[in-house]
Amino acid sequence: MSEVGMVVDLSVVVPSYNEEEVLTELHRRLTEAIEPLAIRAEVVLVNDGSSDGTWARMLELAASDSRLVLVNLSRNHGHQLALTAGLSQAAGRRVLIMDADLQDPPELLGAMMDLMDAGAEVVHGVRRHRAGESQWKLATAALFYRLIERLTEVPIPRDVGDFRLISRRALDVLLAMPERHRFVRGMVSWIGFRQTSLPYDRQPRFAGKTKYPLRRMVRLALDAITASSTRPLALASWAGIGMAVVSCGLLAYSLAAWTRGETVVGWTSLMAAVTTIGSVQLFVLGVIGEYVGRMYEQVKGRPLFIIERVVRSPEKAIPSPDAAQ
Ligand code: UDP
Ligand code: MG
Repeated sequence: MSEVGMVVDLSVVVPSYNEEEVLTELHRRLTEAIEPLAIRAEVVLVNDGSSDGTWARMLELAASDSRLVLVNLSRNHGHQLALTAGLSQAAGRRVLIMDADLQDPPELLGAMMDLMDAGAEVVHGVRRHRAGESQWKLATAALFYRLIERLTEVPIPRDVGDFRLISRRALDVLLAMPERHRFVRGMVSWIGFRQTSLPYDRQPRFAGKTKYPLRRMVRLALDAITASSTRPLALASWAGIGMAVVSCGLLAYSLAAWTRGETVVGWTSLMAAVTTIGSVQLFVLGVIGEYVGRMYEQVKGRPLFIIERVVRSPEKAIPSPDAAQ
């Protein structure tokens, strides 16, 4: 419930970076999607340090629509943090996350709300088809989703972006996760609860250019992998074990050559030293990696578990303060 005591049924959170060309159309399509649902809604527009007229356009729109909540960041913080800033200001009982560029159709809101009425706590939009994107973007995105799928412990559904509807309960858990490198979609999957998907066809950008050049995509991929997995740290252990096997073979070979007197003096001992030290070093790195991984998990400070509900027989139930009233 918001401070003024009015229940906001839905907050739509839209991070925007240099999106002046799309905001008016976004506002129009969103309004059209929200109106028939007859709910109390707010639209949280986040200006992520844009260098164009995004903020001025937002103020213009807000002048004639009291549903708009504007959040202006001090500088460009990047998509995931802009999104997090918007989420922190959302008052709604449900929150729709979408991009400003209308690649995610707001018209799906009704269907997403229905799935949530049926008990889902998170409804992901799953990209069935992506129109108007370059082969390059499609190929790198496909590679990215598949890599993430192999690396993470809690599965992140494939071809899911940030377009999703989440419940207040899931949002509160998300906001209570203090990690700095945020990969929101991975974090939402990690939360659990009942999550469902809604397939849709991704539209081309309404106007403007993508704000995700290769550099940012690589950074997002790195954040995604490191935020959701410590498996890469185990690489050294595996390399150490592989190297140990190889070094045993090499050692046997060089010893055999030595007994036959086929070697230069010193070669056998050198081979033995190099292969053994190599595998021991890798193995020790792997051991350190395991500890670093555990420290990383600890430092992330995520909740240990998230309880969906507790069922007790009525006799055992301890009356909670608000149940006692
Ligand atoms: N965005 C942002 N800050 C940034 C980069 C992007 O808020 O530093 C927003 C952008 O305005 C858009 C969303 O994040 O609403 C997704 O960006 P974009 O559509 O450019 O990514 P793509 O769909 O090409 O992957
Ligand atoms: Mg886009």
